[in-house]
Amino acid sequence: MGKITGFKEFERKTAPYRDVTTRLKDFGEIYTEHDNEHLITQGARCMDCGIPFCQSNDGCPVDNLIPEWNDLVYNNRWEDANERLHHTNNFPEFTGRVCPAPCEGSCVLGVTNPAVTIKNIECAIVDRAFDEGWIKAQTPENRSGKKVAVVGSGPAGMAAAQELNRAGHSVTVYERADRIGGLLMYGIPNMKLEKSVIDRRVQLMKDEGIEFITNADVGNNVDIKELKQNTDAILFATGATTPRDLPVDGRDLNGVHFAMDFLTANTKSLLDSNLEDGNYINAKDKHVVVIGGGDTGTDCIGTSLRHGCKSVVNFELMPTPPEARAENNPWPAWPHIYRVDYGHEEAQKVQGEDPRTYCVLSKGFSGTDGNITSVKTIEVEWQSDEETGQWKMHEVAGSEKEWPADLVLLAMGFTGPEHYVSDALEVEYDERSNYKAEYGKYATNIEGIYAAGDCRRGQSLVVWGINEGRQAACEIDIYLNA
Ligand SMILES: Cc1cc2nc3c(=O)[nH]c(=O)nc-3n(C[C@H](O)[C@H](O)[C@H](O)COP(=O)(O)OP(=O)(O)OC[C@H]3O[C@@H](n4cnc5c(N)ncnc54)[C@H](O)[C@@H]3O)c2cc1C
Ligand code: SF4
Repeated sequence: MGKITGFKEFERKTAPYRDVTTRLKDFGEIYTEHDNEHLITQGARCMDCGIPFCQSNDGCPVDNLIPEWNDLVYNNRWEDANERLHHTNNFPEFTGRVCPAPCEGSCVLGVTNPAVTIKNIECAIVDRAFDEGWIKAQTPENRSGKKVAVVGSGPAGMAAAQELNRAGHSVTVYERADRIGGLLMYGIPNMKLEKSVIDRRVQLMKDEGIEFITNADVGNNVDIKELKQNTDAILFATGATTPRDLPVDGRDLNGVHFAMDFLTANTKSLLDSNLEDGNYINAKDKHVVVIGGGDTGTDCIGTSLRHGCKSVVNFELMPTPPEARAENNPWPAWPHIYRVDYGHEEAQKVQGEDPRTYCVLSKGFSGTDGNITSVKTIEVEWQSDEETGQWKMHEVAGSEKEWPADLVLLAMGFTGPEHYVSDALEVEYDERSNYKAEYGKYATNIEGIYAAGDCRRGQSLVVWGINEGRQAACEIDIYLNA
């Protein structure tokens, strides 16, 4: 274990982000350089519990061997720590940056004290491993002669491709966008995940023998039936890309956009031309209203502030979460508590207050000459139904309000995958319109066609994408070897 008395001696101290005023001037990562000496002390806090809940189902979805690498870091054995880390996680450089760290929510130390800073340690291990050159392409010694097509290059598709290739199969990844990475590339903004971090991993995977084809929209410019004929198995890892809309009065006004259109265009323009080509939705000098919270809402706030917006507010339909765990949300489950993410902190600094307003329902948009000028809202209350126990929403009479708006970003989540590629093969869907394939099996109703990641489980997390990609690869490998 770390240090036997470490958890008594040392306090939890997370790695700081860059100063808000400085980081708002660029789209560089918000993180500071790793302080490895500090992280050795943080690793010393790990208690090496009899049952490490952090790496079980309630904790890390890829079952990272957390106590093992905490101990290795404490003992300054970083290379061994990296080996253990890659044993379960194909891309710790992604999760070490963007994972919300459910592991920390179920850390046993967290029952009485603040949890171990697991995510910071994970990121430091893999970043050091890249710096030291410990991470190398792993080319398979033998090839099976079997061909697999992976449709979609997000974390699920990438993890599956890496595993299948290492098992000796020939893998081609088809991606309709012009860059590889799925939402890692064109969802999560640069300040949370520098895109060179993705390119570095993709290059390694190419060196391992995986073929990546961009601008390849399967079901449109790549024929899915031909693909099926010419390959031994197909994995759909197409993500949950259909955004939830807000069909209220004024939805068609100029200036009302889906969050993903805003975020994708910004990253593409940033990468293509450092925002000089102007091919993005500019929030500069605008009153921005972000409807919907979560990571997407936060990323819209952070991006708008970097453009130099006049103001930014964020509407949440649900009530303010509690400061500490509620009674019905005990350890080791994920703590549903009030959190201040990077975008909220930045808005607080610039505007003097948190941009979030809770229990707000957007009722309609108003405009002049076809352009949005305001959003009409009403406050809501949530009450538990005595009979069913379900929460019901009621509008509060007289609480109507109108907010100035020049740009409205709809960040209300996603309803499921698009179906144009799967309909052609008559793949079945579940009741939420996701691809129907059992968790752990990933096989659809069509032989040789598998599905993993957000397109199967619905909108989720990067770490769940990696989990599903890894497991699906294992199932496909069994199928190909049968
Ligand atoms: C703005 C935003 C911020 C987020 N922030 C975080 C975060 O901080 N932490 C976290 O853990 N999770 C975050 N998430 C969620 C996370 O990004 C997703 O859960 C994860 O990327 C899902 O992985 P995936 O591989 O299943 O699909 P995706 O990453 O969605 O990738 C699917 C890919 O398939 C491609 N595709 C679709 N159809 C076709 C086709 N027919 N032919 C070829 N290609 C196709 C798409 O272009 C896309 O590139 C965020 C999501 C969003 C939208
Ligand atoms: S991948 Fe996420 S849950 Fe797993 S150890 Fe890393 S931060 Fe924790």
